[in-house]
Amino acid sequence: MRMGIGYDIHPLVEGRKLILGGEELAFPLGLQGHSDADVLSHALGDALLGAAGLGDIGRHFPDTEEAYRGVSSLKLLTEIARLVRSAGYEIVNADVTVILQRPRLAGSRARMEKNISRALGLEEGRVNIKATTNEGLDAIGRGEAIAAYAVAAVEGKKI
Ligand code: MG
Repeated sequence: MRMGIGYDIHPLVEGRKLILGGEELAFPLGLQGHSDADVLSHALGDALLGAAGLGDIGRHFPDTEEAYRGVSSLKLLTEIARLVRSAGYEIVNADVTVILQRPRLAGSRARMEKNISRALGLEEGRVNIKATTNEGLDAIGRGEAIAAYAVAAVEGKKI
């Protein structure tokens, strides 16, 4: 069994869709970034790559690459799951904490878990998503950014 950790943060700006865990949320601001800027999926992708000893998301999907402009981060997660399995590991579980002041994620959390489970080829119950505010403190608390932490566990496939 191996563990990995991931962290990401993106600024909230006008003129962008807000996509978290593959769900488009009704909100006046969205996350800035080269891809769809799905900060939750990026943190999780880094945790999965880290658990398998495969580096990080920036190494596999550079933000200088035109091919990844506006790309759905769920597609990146599908590719990451393929890389993890090619390296001889199966994904055991993943746990994500999203830190944001607004909007509330309670109503969309289950759909996010489903989107991510599907993207990773996992049965339900292996991906857990939580949300917390920053109690009004710092840039996240002022609603200027959203961050996410993730941990993931993988285990070596039996031969
Ligand atoms: Mg990112």
